[in-house]
Amino acid sequence: MKKVYLTNADCHNLAFSLSSRIMAFYTKIEPPKRISIFGVPRGGVPVCYLLASIKSIYLVVDDPEDADFIIDDIIGSGDTYSLWSKNLPAIPFLSLVKPGDYPDWVVFPWEGDAEGSIESNITRLLQFIGEDPSRQGLQETPKRVAKAWQHWTSGYSKKPEDILKVFEDGADGCDEMVIIKNIPFYTHCEHHLAPFFGTASVTYIPDGKIVGLSKISRIVDIFSRRLQVQERLTNQIADALNDTLHPKGVGVVITARHLCMESRGICQQGHSTVTSALRGVLKENPSARAEFLELIK
Ligand code: ZN
Repeated sequence: MKKVYLTNADCHNLAFSLSSRIMAFYTKIEPPKRISIFGVPRGGVPVCYLLASIKSIYLVVDDPEDADFIIDDIIGSGDTYSLWSKNLPAIPFLSLVKPGDYPDWVVFPWEGDAEGSIESNITRLLQFIGEDPSRQGLQETPKRVAKAWQHWTSGYSKKPEDILKVFEDGADGCDEMVIIKNIPFYTHCEHHLAPFFGTASVTYIPDGKIVGLSKISRIVDIFSRRLQVQERLTNQIADALNDTLHPKGVGVVITARHLCMESRGICQQGHSTVTSALRGVLKENPSARAEFLELIK
């Protein structure tokens, strides 16, 4: 994702616009002599100081229940916002950067550079689990983890249609199932960021267009290098082939082991989860479907 680095001057301008949004609450009633604001740790705190520095009406308070407004730097995923609006529904929640202000990843001056802030979050995680981030074996870990996650999620920046170059030559009379069995994949579940991995078997029945066989496993890679749930991964692979090749039929069967289930004892160890996505004749024609399922056994 592209990053936009805000300067202190940008934040100063944004603080004036935030202040107008606060004052807009007082068009029908007289504003009080003091407006109490509470900053959500950590990003909301410098925003409150900024507001107090541009207008002396603002008083930064320590207890959110004493505040007229709850202030944050950005409403990112919306999780912080939902939590605060649920707990203190009567107190308006405003952010320095409004949703929709910037399409890119915003980095505030108080965060340092984005990689640095990801790394400091990983250091915090190490502290959270009771580790000592300064011991030798862990010193480079935040850097390595950030890099590894860039690789594990590199599929977001790739488009399946760029990879699925279609050949029409050699497709004449080719209307039998093309099957690639047991393509290994490694991905992470979006609920726990825990790995799940297994194999995908993919088939399609061409209708005048064929694709290089290695491209099929690259499609599996693109979608597995994102946060996933197994059902969506299965459907995305099937739809990518269906939408690009327009074949007579597509079938995808994925068998996977989920560490979040197995390691936490929700599911007995060794169980695997099987999902399938069928399109076209493989969905509609029971004998074509039976043949496919028999062939990938
Ligand atoms: Zn999970």
